Amino acid sequence: PVHRSPEMQEERLRLPILSEEQVIMEAVAEHPIVIVCGETGSGKTTQVPQFLYEAGYSSDGCIIGVTEPRRVAAVAMSQRVAKEMNLSPRVVSYQIRYEGNVTEETKIKFMTDGVLLKEIQKDFLLRKYKVLIIDEAHERSVYTDILIGLLSRIVSLRAKRHLPLKLLIMSATLRVEDFTQNQRLFPVPPPVVKVESRQFPVTVHFNKRTPLEDYSGECFRKVCKIHRMLPAGGILVFLTGQAEVHALCRRLRRAFPHVRRRPPENEDQGDSVEETRKFKKSRARARKAQAATLPQISLDSYSVLPAGEGDEDREAEMDEEEAALDSDLDLDLGDGGADGGEQPDASLPLHVLPLYSLLSPEKQAQVFQAPPEGTRLCVVATNVAETSLTIPGIKYVVDCGKVKKRHYDRVTGVSSFRITWVSQASADQRAGRAGRTEPGHCYRLYSSAVFGDFEPFPPPEITRRPVEDLVLQMKALNIERVVNFPFPTPPSMEALLAAEELLVALGALEAPPKTERMKQLQRSRLSCPITALGRTMATFPVAPRYAKMLALSQPDGCLPYAITIVAAMTVRELFEELDRPAASDDKLAALKGKRARVAQMKRAWAGRGASLKLGDLMVLLGAVGACEYAGCSPQFCEAHGLRYKAMLEIRRLRGQLTTAVNAVCPDAGLFVDPKMRPPSESQVTCLRQIVAAGLGDHLARRVQSEDLLDDTWRNAYKTPLLDDPVFIHPSSVLFRELPDFVVYQEIVETTKMYMKGVSAVEIQWIP
Ligand code: ADP
Ligand code: MG
Repeated sequence: PVHRSPEMQEERLRLPILSEEQVIMEAVAEHPIVIVCGETGSGKTTQVPQFLYEAGYSSDGCIIGVTEPRRVAAVAMSQRVAKEMNLSPRVVSYQIRYEGNVTEETKIKFMTDGVLLKEIQKDFLLRKYKVLIIDEAHERSVYTDILIGLLSRIVSLRAKRHLPLKLLIMSATLRVEDFTQNQRLFPVPPPVVKVESRQFPVTVHFNKRTPLEDYSGECFRKVCKIHRMLPAGGILVFLTGQAEVHALCRRLRRAFPHVRRRPPENEDQGDSVEETRKFKKSRARARKAQAATLPQISLDSYSVLPAGEGDEDREAEMDEEEAALDSDLDLDLGDGGADGGEQPDASLPLHVLPLYSLLSPEKQAQVFQAPPEGTRLCVVATNVAETSLTIPGIKYVVDCGKVKKRHYDRVTGVSSFRITWVSQASADQRAGRAGRTEPGHCYRLYSSAVFGDFEPFPPPEITRRPVEDLVLQMKALNIERVVNFPFPTPPSMEALLAAEELLVALGALEAPPKTERMKQLQRSRLSCPITALGRTMATFPVAPRYAKMLALSQPDGCLPYAITIVAAMTVRELFEELDRPAASDDKLAALKGKRARVAQMKRAWAGRGASLKLGDLMVLLGAVGACEYAGCSPQFCEAHGLRYKAMLEIRRLRGQLTTAVNAVCPDAGLFVDPKMRPPSESQVTCLRQIVAAGLGDHLARRVQSEDLLDDTWRNAYKTPLLDDPVFIHPSSVLFRELPDFVVYQEIVETTKMYMKGVSAVEIQWIP
């Protein structure tokens, strides 16, 4: 029995899904697999787990599992459901990549899809669950897709063993045909329960013209107009990334200030004008202090954290993308009086809140609270607000129509971040956010003609990125012929072939016999069995290239260093973005000063001789070591241009990787040395060999002056796959060294093609 508070009960009864409880529960009782489809906000995520709980699906020590593609949703939804049911977080819990509050008592468990995928590797039948809900299936995240494919098989295996498993797939009202009309996935099409929601009409207003560049400015003007001229009701703005979100928040707070009673924690620098000012002051002080004495950091004794991070997953990529692209300390951006002559207007206070995936859970929770008396709520969000979270009281939506995605070149793997138009389906989802509580309005900052050219649906993620990590995980699950896997939408053949080729090259899969004819060869290339090395690699929660580095390292040699480097490479973008535009000459000077200091630190961390040859990876090692030695404080990070959040993430991943490495070689008795000394010359040599082995296919050769085709090739490198020149990124310590051969972590295309994470290699090491 559940004891809900009367208010909560009343709130629930207003949700459209409540009237469908019986229909849903009957469908679940009669069918192993059910699809529940309903408008965002209709109550799927918060209510369906409760229906199942009350129907006894968490009896006999079994758990109701719910997967979410985003960490934000897993945490927020577990808290919301616990509150609605009046149960403790020990009973309604969550598990995300590095943290969770699952206990022996847990009955309902929210987790990211990556967490469940890892659990399948431990127990393919997932015996501890009686029912699993795959939520937000319409988002088509890679792990959601894979899970659905795997679960279609697990459900029938469980049936054979008389341990029935129920599977619910929940989706917003977007295309579900990929699930229902897919014979290979579900030979018997599962029933679809549609939840009719009381969606109020939303009037869509298109711009007459589409602004070419400044959609943030256009958002600002639109919000100002709405706030000044239209009746009460919350405003939700869609932008593309964290930096944009913060910039617009600051601008709006300046335009419509209001005094807050409770000062925000200092973590969110963008939170109020006052906080910002304080923060800048202290930063200026820190800068001054630092200019006087460059810190002397000894690498002789920096400490390492104890291992012991629990469960892990491969987090949905979004978070890292955001982290990679946005610097969260970009206070200098968009500053100054460039607000089109807007005078601060304190008579019309606006309660402005940011919302994006990397925001701390406490900050995220603020958007669900009623705004302070006499203010209007304005949430400035990235894509997270499109479907996974429903913000109460929104009447106006301002949609810039754009989304930021990482784009990969299929053949070369070169990636770039691109801001593109959303799909029509996404734009309609965004508009729908305005009609939850009463009729609303959606302002689209683009013309209806432009909308007409949008793609109808966003392409599933699995068709848009390299799949070597997935292929390795699937092989480790003994799915040898990945082409035959019942994907809701399969990746391209090219992507699958490229993945198998890379895994064969890394030694994770057995090479196909060479004698076969072409056609057979093609087929056998797609069914290479996994090797022992591959199995070991699959246990590490990092990309296969990095997993290989860990698998090759000797416990007595350089493993702790390899772990640190791999953790740092996986987290990406350790260093703050310092090439950003500055608003004024003063700020430019400060920025330049910082750039110079950071460059100096990097050189110090890179060292000389053998260690300099390890290049940017040596810098990573030095930066992490120095930062840990200094206690990993926000001040240290700020002073050295390091991203604090990245450093915390690296700390967690190091613990996790150490545990994973210990699990595969217990005999070695590897322990975490709290006083890891800097690597010796021979250890650096060993590290360079390991790095070269892991990144072997990312090799580039310096173009010698006699081969210079023309001026565009000056200082350029040639890679096997690309016709165009690639360059060492200016932020690299090897930028001026220009070694003959290098390996790189990735190539990112901006104005040119740049190699990042560069390390020098001796060519004879390359097999
Ligand atoms: P769906 O999954 O169908 O999109 P949800 O179950 O997430 O719907 O949301 C149902 C309702 O519960 C929404 O109207 C939303 O406003 C409300 N809600 C969800 N989470 C919270 C929360 N943390 N605080 C207050 N209300 C919430
Ligand atoms: Mg939901």
